[in-house]
Amino acid sequence: MPPVIDAPCPQLVPGDPGYDDARRVWNGEIDRKPAVIAQVTGPADVAACLAYARSNGLDVTVRGGGHNMGGAAVADDAVMIDLSGLRTVHVDPEARTARVGGGATNANLDAATQAHGLAVPAGTYSDTGIGGLTLGGGFGWLTAKHGLAVDNLISAEVVLADGRVVRASADSHPDLFWALRGGGGNFGVVTEFEYQLHPVGPLVDAGLYFWELDRGADALRLARELAPTLGTTGLMVVGMTAPPAPFVPEEHQGKVGYALILAGFDGTEAFAALSQRVRDALPPLFEMVSPLPYTELQKMLDGIGFRGNFAYEKAIYSDDLSDGLIDVLVNTLPAKASPLSATPIALVGGAYAEVPDHATAFGGPRRTSFVVGLTAICPVPELLPLDRAWVRSTWERLLPYASNTGGYVNFMADYEQDRVRVTYGPAKYDRLSRIKAAYDPDNVFHHNGNIKPC
Ligand code: FAD
Repeated sequence: MPPVIDAPCPQLVPGDPGYDDARRVWNGEIDRKPAVIAQVTGPADVAACLAYARSNGLDVTVRGGGHNMGGAAVADDAVMIDLSGLRTVHVDPEARTARVGGGATNANLDAATQAHGLAVPAGTYSDTGIGGLTLGGGFGWLTAKHGLAVDNLISAEVVLADGRVVRASADSHPDLFWALRGGGGNFGVVTEFEYQLHPVGPLVDAGLYFWELDRGADALRLARELAPTLGTTGLMVVGMTAPPAPFVPEEHQGKVGYALILAGFDGTEAFAALSQRVRDALPPLFEMVSPLPYTELQKMLDGIGFRGNFAYEKAIYSDDLSDGLIDVLVNTLPAKASPLSATPIALVGGAYAEVPDHATAFGGPRRTSFVVGLTAICPVPELLPLDRAWVRSTWERLLPYASNTGGYVNFMADYEQDRVRVTYGPAKYDRLSRIKAAYDPDNVFHHNGNIKPC
């Protein structure tokens, strides 16, 4: 069949070999059928897709890594702009910068930058796309040391809704550049991100300490006490089921409890002292502490769930992991049905908290905080209704303890419009809305945490 879009890139329509693979996203529950999937090779193809959608009255979706749990990258009967062919990473080791294709994954980014002993904060799961991750903020193990992905963005090549291609930076389209740093995929298709890099590794330190549920509240209180003292060390504390992994003693596999995970970037000696503090405060049921390559740290959580699992999530921000919040978390954790469902709680502080709130569009408090995620991940579809209900009811019970009930825009499986507004707050949302009106007045890019043009 001849291509439907006036562009030389591969195009797939229903029935074509590869169509079903290309329309799949991370969450196996999403089963949508676009009218056409364009596997674009650069900005000109993207502009042709937008023109085709416009003249045929079709919706547009943009697929980066396909990780959004609500399946924002794919819609029925739409034109899907698939960026997964844009994965090239060019590193300039002298300038310590990288130009990265809009469809690259964390793994692509880390592999290329670590070849030069460099890195930029990105997600904690290697398969996540840097596109959606960066546009929503992007936190990871390096966030306490170097901020969010958006705090390290130097420029972006963007195809706008009308097909124009611009480079947004502090000096060029500064309003657009501000909006891209947290405002999600609302403002155009980013075909290339340019990041500032930092020397990291190659070896870093990681520690995972696990406590059974009875000591869950103590583990969460320990995370709370450690948080203000950690400097550049990354921290996550996860309510989870101990997996059947080699580092988990057989007798503890399948136990529900809390894993505290620390990532150190300041030398093994300092990390050993921190590890000892953890053991002295609350001797863990089991632990795994080791130096490891940065690229391995970036894959450490890959086993929390797999492409094709059936998933759902919600989140809040919390300033302080208060006792009330801890009670809710500990009391609701045993009700999860799937062994993969979890409550990942990430500390964002250090360099993150030094960036002024108004400097970027990022929707979240720019002070030391916890991103409290509630994640249903089910190996079989039958468990999803149970754990979706578990996520929703736990989230409702956490609301009184939240500093921002909207939560992290990248952890929304449902983009409820009121929550998107709450995430950004009225002033930021209104500024985003004005920028949206300037760059995408017809709201072409609306499969996202949507900012309505004003
Ligand atoms: P997609 O589903 O492809 O896209 C998500 C949204 O971004 C869509 O609206 C899409 O249209 C838009 N978009 C994507 N790329 C572009 C682009 N180049 N130009 C314009 N619009 C674009 N987040 C963190 O911050 N830190 C983490 O550690 C982290 N871990 C995660 C682990 C797992 C297992 C999962 C499922 C998610 C995780 N996330 C994390 C959340 C993640 O940041 C979001 O799911 C994010 O949207 C993923 O981006 P993507 O490109 O893979 O997603």
